[in-house]
Amino acid sequence: MTDGRLSHVELLARDGETGMPCRRLEGFQKIERRHPGGFQRGSTYRHWLCEFGVRLIRQNNAPPFYISNTNATHGNCNLIMEKLRISFHRRFTRREFTMSHSSNAVFPIDALLWGIRRWVEIESPSQDGQAVNRMTDIVEADYRAQGVQTQRIPGRDGLGDHLIARKGNKHGPGILVLSHNDTVHPVGTLDDVLPFRIEGDRAFGPGIADMKGGAFLAFSAIAQLDVGDLNWTLPVTHVLVSDEEIGSPTSRELIEAEARKAKYVLVTEPGRNGGRCVTARKGIATFELKVHGRATHAGLRHRDGRNAIIELAKHILAIEALTDYERGLTINVGTIRGGTKPNVVPFEAIAEIDIRLPTPPMGEEIIRKLREIRPTSDDYKLMLTGRIKRPPYTKTEAISELYETARSIASDLGFDLSDSATSGASDANFTASIAATLDGIGVNGLDSAHTHYECMEISSAPQRAQMLYQLLRTLR
Ligand SMILES: [Zn+2]
Repeated sequence: MTDGRLSHVELLARDGETGMPCRRLEGFQKIERRHPGGFQRGSTYRHWLCEFGVRLIRQNNAPPFYISNTNATHGNCNLIMEKLRISFHRRFTRREFTMSHSSNAVFPIDALLWGIRRWVEIESPSQDGQAVNRMTDIVEADYRAQGVQTQRIPGRDGLGDHLIARKGNKHGPGILVLSHNDTVHPVGTLDDVLPFRIEGDRAFGPGIADMKGGAFLAFSAIAQLDVGDLNWTLPVTHVLVSDEEIGSPTSRELIEAEARKAKYVLVTEPGRNGGRCVTARKGIATFELKVHGRATHAGLRHRDGRNAIIELAKHILAIEALTDYERGLTINVGTIRGGTKPNVVPFEAIAEIDIRLPTPPMGEEIIRKLREIRPTSDDYKLMLTGRIKRPPYTKTEAISELYETARSIASDLGFDLSDSATSGASDANFTASIAATLDGIGVNGLDSAHTHYECMEISSAPQRAQMLYQLLRTLR
């Protein structure tokens, strides 16, 4: 044996499909009486579950051993216990036992990886509603296997369904956990540039960071919540939407409605570099400025024409000048189009504008300034359309408090959780003004989201699952 004497044995039941711990099995007492020799007297067996997997908890805070593949099957407790006992005994007497993985107390790393891989290998680009639904099917089945209630909201406009899982008997404002089932990667990415693979402490795959890894951590944490746990008081709702990567056009209402019922919102987007969580995101507004002039023959009646492109160009310079880096406000004229042929004075020109807003008042200010733009002469007509697509997510006092809570949980777990503000938006932008929101608490995505090297830091996963679990259990 190695360091740390065995102090007690913990039995894990894991669902054969999901690899997740399942509900408590009756009949544990039998194994307790029959445990093989070699363990300390008076040791406690904690009643946990199992389909495959035995975890041996050692004294002196030495990391536990985790043994998988005991071949026990679900549904027959005696058989499970018997098989575990045999396997357990056999393994205990063999040296290979010491080669088993050590793992986090509640979230074995191999179970998390196995589950994340399973979700990652169902490709689910936002625009492909059927593909996203295949992912939603499996999340729904996984929740149901845990005895968790689910509700499916049919997708619209060819997009996939949204899924809601609820756990907890109590009523009143609870915790909304927010994830998305879609990714930016088209079907085929997995067989082409980004197959699931492990290199050192990194696991690669489409959407593994953004955000199947984080969604799976949340699922794992929620599955572990025990209805008998007195520490756990707030009802938990996990919403997985199908269209976050394209701006949540069909899920925004659902997200906001669920946020209104919540006291806290935890968003499982990937952690930024160093695993930092996110407590502020800029808002996004998109506008289109259309100019109408007068089309004439470029040769015969050039003087009579009113060139919409030139008029637009004058306004573009003024619009771009509204950028204020000091205040974090950026305005980008990202596309222009206009005109029909070189020999026609252009009648129409259009610019598309992307605005990033650190605070709501800046949004009002910038929209007012855009509306104040006037044509340089009465011969032109300007039409401005657009809106704030995602409001700014600002770090309020309530959000700071929520972050501090997560930080102290992380520090108890032995890691440092710092926070960051980012210019990229997420569904947290919709909830932050409604309920205290903490984002970026999914896997550490090593700043790889949306790339062909998208990956997660494997060793961070158990810690972050544990942090999520503790947040769910202890938030009041
Ligand atoms: Zn995401």
